[in-house]
Amino acid sequence: MADNSYDIIVLGSGPGGYVAAIRCAQLGMKTAIVERENLGGICLNWGCIPTKALLRSAEILHYAQHASDYGLKIAGTIEADLEAVVKRSRGVAKQLSGGIAHLMKKNKITVHMGEGTLTGPTSLTVKGEKGEEKLTAKHVIVATGARARNLPFAPADGKRIWTYRHAMVPPEMPKKLLVIGSGAIGIEFASFYNDMGCDVTVVEMLDRIVPVEDHEVSAFLEKSLTKQGMTIMTGAGVEALEVTGKGVTAKIKDKAGKVHANEYTHCITAIGIMPNTENIGLDKLVEMDRGFIQIDPYGRTKSKGLWAIGDCTPGPWLAHKASHEGVTAAEAIAQELGNKDVHPHPLNRDAIPGCTYCHPQIASVGMTEAKAKEAGREVKVGVFPFIGNGKAIALGEAEGFTKTVFDAKTGELLGAHMVGAEVTEMIQGYTIGMTLETTEAELMNTVFPHPTISESMHEAVLGAYGRALHI
Ligand SMILES: Cc1cc2nc3c(=O)[nH]c(=O)nc-3n(C[C@H](O)[C@H](O)[C@H](O)COP(=O)(O)OP(=O)(O)OC[C@H]3O[C@@H](n4cnc5c(N)ncnc54)[C@H](O)[C@@H]3O)c2cc1C
Repeated sequence: MADNSYDIIVLGSGPGGYVAAIRCAQLGMKTAIVERENLGGICLNWGCIPTKALLRSAEILHYAQHASDYGLKIAGTIEADLEAVVKRSRGVAKQLSGGIAHLMKKNKITVHMGEGTLTGPTSLTVKGEKGEEKLTAKHVIVATGARARNLPFAPADGKRIWTYRHAMVPPEMPKKLLVIGSGAIGIEFASFYNDMGCDVTVVEMLDRIVPVEDHEVSAFLEKSLTKQGMTIMTGAGVEALEVTGKGVTAKIKDKAGKVHANEYTHCITAIGIMPNTENIGLDKLVEMDRGFIQIDPYGRTKSKGLWAIGDCTPGPWLAHKASHEGVTAAEAIAQELGNKDVHPHPLNRDAIPGCTYCHPQIASVGMTEAKAKEAGREVKVGVFPFIGNGKAIALGEAEGFTKTVFDAKTGELLGAHMVGAEVTEMIQGYTIGMTLETTEAELMNTVFPHPTISESMHEAVLGAYGRALHI
């Protein structure tokens, strides 16, 4: 009979769970992971990675359509083959999920495929193809993630009303698409379908799109997406959705209080997520707030031996946040088990970068200008437009800017906000700076390579102190 007792069992194999399992194994713990669907979780199978594969196809289509801007002629028509685009995206997801299976094997982590339910803080049952297995451990990490939140009056049917899962594998190309919600997920799908030639409307209840971002980023993105042909309705609410023979009719109350009945062929609801914390034996073991498991900075719940990480805990709900929490919890557990060589670092919540891969991209870290002022900080702000950056112009990507927010008294970098080409690859420069508690002086004295769009990062710092060179 299999020995099903472990040092650690991780429930859920997303970027929180599988990273936690690898770190536990690296620290010498006998580790198991339980997964009911696909190794890699939402991120690899239905989230971060397959969306980026879709967006890459849309980006290449966009460049091909604008080939003449670069002095190129492409003979014949350029069009998207939706089935092939989706097939490529699914292939990328499958490749990466297979990569996680390899990593589990390499790190000698036992994989139990099936639905896990806790029977106590450190024991669970797994119902899978092999029937029911009972597992025990010294510690259990819950990393069960989250799923799309449905509109209460119009749950997704997969035909006309989609969540991100349906939008990722569309049976047909929507002609006229309504996207409800303008957070990262809503805006990425809006951008993808818009670039693919669909007529897209985005409805956002708050007064601006991507509302967690800096006001200037929201305004710039709205202008850019509108220029690309999208209809953006802010301060507006969808009050009813009715599925008809041809699509959906949406009753939308606009900013002025006027109700419109608009027809769309499809609708994507992107109004947030729900944690996967029901019916898995957690109720008496943990404190929850709206379903999210409450944890200390290391991932401990109120039950000894039971830990939680990632999207089933308070946000931000991002893959890199889940992975960081996974490493922290693994190291804190190792310490509890007597390892004196590990020094777990709780997440610095003030320096978690966020990226949205729409077109143009947006990326940010730390406080917005408004949040810094709300927190009572006196600020110095620098904004540098890409039109002043040689590389951006050479690439034909002069649309965008970099903005920095500093504490006027201490020079502490409080936040950075970027919109434009490649910004999702660049924001990490500022994130490292914040982790090292950098000030304006070090950033000004850093040499940035030329020609790169990253020079705009330098210029935005110089600009905050009246020293920008190319504007
Ligand atoms: C469309 C989309 C795009 C996204 N893009 C980005 C992005 O670009 N960057 C970014 O940082 N984040 C992005 N995210 C968010 C990111 O996917 C999540 O933050 C991340 O996946 C959370 O990781 P996790 O390990 O907490 O949970 P998940 O990835 O949700 O994994 C949880 C796993 O647990 C399993 N599970 C749940 N319950 C049980 C059970 N009872 N028994 C067994 N297994 C169980 C699930 O099957 C799942 O595999 C995106 C999300 C979506 C939906």
